[in-house]
Amino acid sequence: MSRTMNQGTIPARVDPIKCVEQNTHIEGVLAVSKLDRLGDYLTERSGEVQVSMTFGRDEQKIATLQGQCDTRVKMLCQRCLKPVEVEVSSEFSLGIVFSDEQASHLPKQYDPIVTDGESLALPQLLEDELILSLPMFAYHDHCEEHEHTSESVSSQDEAVVEKKENPFSVLAQLKKS
Ligand SMILES: [Zn+2]
Repeated sequence: MSRTMNQGTIPARVDPIKCVEQNTHIEGVLAVSKLDRLGDYLTERSGEVQVSMTFGRDEQKIATLQGQCDTRVKMLCQRCLKPVEVEVSSEFSLGIVFSDEQASHLPKQYDPIVTDGESLALPQLLEDELILSLPMFAYHDHCEEHEHTSESVSSQDEAVVEKKENPFSVLAQLKKS
């Protein structure tokens, strides 16, 4: 009874009602370069997001979209201020509704996705999920060695904060203490 859309690239828009009725399963990829809002958090707008998701109805007849998206992106390491690769993975369970009123009645396990019923913009929806899953601060497990290896790590951190005046470094220091 289910229909699979497996076209390399995730479609920009789908008909949500049709997809729910047909139990549509979508698998494919999304270019990070197309996701401007996500790109604002990254040092490089490259790579692809792997997406797998299925429309359907649960036992209470609620229209749902469930799936996951995974990617690897480059963010700025808040310790050495060089790019660091971060794995981002998001599992989502959305309830498809047509008004804020309906959204407020959804069971707790679903995040609402409000649609006009005619079209659902999939890349934007996935981009929101990815942004929510980004780490607040990215760090290398082991930053590359700096030139002055005799200095302790903490004094290097302070030097970086003074030089670059990066607000995130200050926050990261607060978080550590
Ligand atoms: Zn680093």
